[in-house]
Amino acid sequence: MATETLVFASAVDPIGPWRDTIEAILPDVCVRAPDAAEPGAVRYALIWKPPHGFFARYPALRLVTILGAGADALAGRDDLPDVPITRLSDPEMARMMSHYVLFAVLRYARDIPAFDVAQREARWHYVHPREAREIRVGVLGLGELGGAAAIELARQGFSVRGWARSQKHLPDVACYTGREALDAFLAEIEILVVMLPLTPETRGLLGPGELAALPAGAKLINVARGAIVDEAALVDALASGRLGGATLDVFAREPLDRDHPLWTLPNVLITPHLASVAIPASAARQVADNIVRVRHGLAPLHRIDLARGY
Ligand code: NDP
Repeated sequence: MATETLVFASAVDPIGPWRDTIEAILPDVCVRAPDAAEPGAVRYALIWKPPHGFFARYPALRLVTILGAGADALAGRDDLPDVPITRLSDPEMARMMSHYVLFAVLRYARDIPAFDVAQREARWHYVHPREAREIRVGVLGLGELGGAAAIELARQGFSVRGWARSQKHLPDVACYTGREALDAFLAEIEILVVMLPLTPETRGLLGPGELAALPAGAKLINVARGAIVDEAALVDALASGRLGGATLDVFAREPLDRDHPLWTLPNVLITPHLASVAIPASAARQVADNIVRVRHGLAPLHRIDLARGY
């Protein structure tokens, strides 16, 4: 059987599960690490932040798939091949993200950080629980992951508002659009969830002014990209107590520097960029389907728009 090669390059994802699942679906595709691939046989690339110049080694490349949902790892690079670039769009990835967001929102909604502190002081600290519908949660970005999380939060009874570039119609989620609507949107939000892609438009979107537009004591959850939030302004807002707390999975620079002030702020929960990860058992099917589409001359699905940045 004639075989084609898919080159797999990621410093964080092991090749094994991807090789096994993709080769099981498409026996005529062999999945190889860059040092084991014959460059001329490489037709497809499954990559996460490959080094500059990576693609030039593969003249017969026909399709690139980013091993994740965010396109910022490639957007803006000047070494990209002239072939379709797609990202993963996997319901299991959206489910994993919704779990994280739900956990982080519920933790604030049920005052868990206050009980954490009280327990350490052996203090019986009663805070009367509020009903979910009284709690206003905002989701910035209503795409594959953000939309799913917003719907799940609404399903749990929270009062959910979302903000995106274009109008959305999601069950029980009030949708706002455009930069001009942002400050008024933020002024209503008690728990803000950032689920935007990092693009030239969203870099630094939440600066001192936007953080100050949130009601006093509001909480921020960032599961998108660190650089969307001005980190210095975030530290100031958290240190002063103006912002009541933050749950941060992403940072402007990762890993977060050991001496970064965010580590020691008592009202911050830090996780190391794992709110959602690519899951081979489900996402390999999508990679394989796109390979079949390209073989048949069809446009692959989930293509990213490099000019738009996501
Ligand atoms: P999508 O590309 O599907 O959706 C992006 C959403 O953001 C869309 O609703 C889009 O609006 C909106 N948006 C984009 N630019 C603007 C803007 N300038 N103003 C207003 N709204 C805007 O992304 P996903 O939901 O799949 O993922 C979101 C991000 O999550 C990813 O880009 C990635 O960075 C991050 N991520 C983080 C992970 C983690 O583990 N922490 C894991 C996976 C992803 P419209 O619909 O109108 O186009």
